Amino acid sequence: MEWFLSWIAFAVLSAIVGANKGLGGFGWFIIGFLFGPFGFIASLVVKKNERAIEASGVSTGTFRKCPACAEAIKTEAIKCRYCGTDLVRPSTPAG
Ligand SMILES: [Zn+2]
Repeated sequence: MEWFLSWIAFAVLSAIVGANKGLGGFGWFIIGFLFGPFGFIASLVVKKNERAIEASGVSTGTFRKCPACAEAIKTEAIKCRYCGTDLVRPSTPAG
């Protein structure tokens, strides 16, 4: 049964890596379950879906949209990395 438990572990690890890369955790759980360590390695080497990461970052406050070009940029950014517009930092509570 150990092989089965390690297969589940690879499925979970693949799902975590896939979710962190914005690729969808459930799909990578299946891939990790089907291919075991090979699925996990695939999740490590596959390219990030930066659009999905940024889109989820906007909803969590890590990213915001550039007012000039509407691309997702980091909340702390003072210059847009897409269009170069100087940005005003979001006002933070004094103190
Ligand atoms: Zn911009």
